Amino acid sequence: MDGWGREIRSVRVSVTDKCNFRCTYCMPAEGLTWLPKPEILSFEEIARLVGVLARVGVREVRLTGGEPLVRRDLPELVRMLAAIPGADDLSLTTNGVLLDRLAEPLVAAGLRRINVSLDSLSHVRFAEITRRDALDQVLRGLEAAERYPELRPIKVNCVAVRGQTEHEVHALAELARRKPYVVRFIEFMPLDADEAWREDQVLTGAEIRALIEERWPLVEVSAPTSSTSRRYRFADGAGEVGFVNPVSEPFCSSCDRIRITADGQLRTCLFSRREWDLKSVLRSGAADDELERHIRFAVRHKELKHRISDPGFVRASRSMSQIGG
Ligand code: SAM
Repeated sequence: MDGWGREIRSVRVSVTDKCNFRCTYCMPAEGLTWLPKPEILSFEEIARLVGVLARVGVREVRLTGGEPLVRRDLPELVRMLAAIPGADDLSLTTNGVLLDRLAEPLVAAGLRRINVSLDSLSHVRFAEITRRDALDQVLRGLEAAERYPELRPIKVNCVAVRGQTEHEVHALAELARRKPYVVRFIEFMPLDADEAWREDQVLTGAEIRALIEERWPLVEVSAPTSSTSRRYRFADGAGEVGFVNPVSEPFCSSCDRIRITADGQLRTCLFSRREWDLKSVLRSGAADDELERHIRFAVRHKELKHRISDPGFVRASRSMSQIGG
């Protein structure tokens, strides 16, 4: 429980800060300075932390990065985490480019849910946004995921940027109708390493919903209170879309989430300015009770809310790929 009475049930674990894409809203074209290898948590260290978190009530574990699939032997980590009692909801967020090869071993290791980032179905725009010509490879990755019915739901996440995403909305909505994918539009947040974000670039969920409804009426579906997304099904029954609106409709009051960076720092908000160094605690030979004490202390200090739209907003201490989105 944090200091504001919110129960913390969910952790995002970044397994690497490296990425094989360079999405314009996230990373600079030439990349960032990578963390030195010895700073990165080993699989054993990650599993130990998740074990302690599960013991104190965390139920949902999502692996992310950077690009988690560039971390060698990731299915082995999935296998280790899937065996932890209590942390029953294990998922992965990926750009999908290595998924055609890895879907099978990930599912065999116990992965049950997946989110694939996909901002455009046009080869040209996809390459402009990600700075990689990899759309077909990502679509192959999605199709590989589709072959495993135990891997559901498959969510497709699109970061909505004004001037860019309007052209994609109908094609992505059509993808949600044609395929067993829940397509979700996520508002652009000031977490880009280039620090070029401006509020007027945020294409809101409400605006996108209106664009979809020009063609296909939508009906809202109820979602759990801790859900970050507003869910809608197509009125004719063909598929589902979602809107994650952290800028226009902040959901901080029901936030149940913490994050662990690839170098073992606990962050209690995407927009945190401070981190809690669990790696040093782990590597000092501390017992689980000691780790638990540090986690509980950090969680008690979780921020009330992000302040993106407040005057004098100060950006987070790291950018999205370094935090783990
Ligand atoms: N590489 C993986 C991927 O592409 O899904 C996982 C890490 S990535 C940082 C996680 C998610 O954060 C992706 O869906 C990405 O599009 C999103 N993201 C990155 N920068 C963002 C920003 N400035 N605002 C909103 N979402 C962002």
